[in-house]
Amino acid sequence: MSNAIIRLQGVNKWYGQFHVLRNVNLDVAPGERIVICGPSGSGKSTMIRCINRLEEHQQGQIVVDGTELTNDLKNIETIRRDVGMVFQHFNLFPHLTVLENLTLGPVWVLKKSKAEAEATAMKYLERVRIPDQAKKFPGQLSGGQQQRVAIARSLCMNPKVMLFDEPTSALDPEMVKEVLDVMVTLAQESGMTMLCVTHEMGFARKVANRVIFMDRGEIIEQNAPDAFFDNPRNERTRLFLSQIL
Ligand code: ADP
Ligand code: MG
Repeated sequence: MSNAIIRLQGVNKWYGQFHVLRNVNLDVAPGERIVICGPSGSGKSTMIRCINRLEEHQQGQIVVDGTELTNDLKNIETIRRDVGMVFQHFNLFPHLTVLENLTLGPVWVLKKSKAEAEATAMKYLERVRIPDQAKKFPGQLSGGQQQRVAIARSLCMNPKVMLFDEPTSALDPEMVKEVLDVMVTLAQESGMTMLCVTHEMGFARKVANRVIFMDRGEIIEQNAPDAFFDNPRNERTRLFLSQIL
């Protein structure tokens, strides 16, 4: 794929002696939506954290929007700006209001005026359907609302790519849907390139172009969602799906 917005080639990573990513190759096309699944400890978080350099790989190449991730801090800054990330545990600043959480990056990193940053923030709070929560602190919101704030906060930075690491797995069951709905809308309306680690198979079927299965640090299998779920080829994929479906 010559126009890949994200390219991992022969990526290997170790934590000490532990070989956590084994020869990972992945090309992501602009606008593509990928769901990554696999057993706990298989390296899913590590792989997506390498894409914005929250983790460092030791071998191979990672290129994001034409910039290779190396020790060059300038490249890392560029990529962090272009790649939004939403974590399992929201990671909002507890001492700032929702609106302040959303305007911090645009004001300090993108050098926007406060007024412009607030207008953008309100636009995205509308999009995640909680404009009325702007003046509250994160601790005053439900988990589902906090995660929607976290998604809005990423969008305020106008990223080219969004990475999600199990965004609904820390939520109470009744809040999962409201977050998934926001993500589905984002996928369908914005054409955003998305990589999402999740075991929400309904979400995968609805929005993913491709599902990737990882096990023990390797990409074992990948396919379009229907083919992936209905007709898994690898024994380990079958075992995994039988445990979660
Ligand atoms: P997943 O997201 O698929 O559950 P992770 O990428 O979080 O898997 O972790 C993969 C493996 O690497 C696990 O065995 C985990 O214990 C190990 N690991 C993760 N982070 C670290 C770290 N900072 N230091 C050492 N080992 C780690
Ligand atoms: Mg993980």
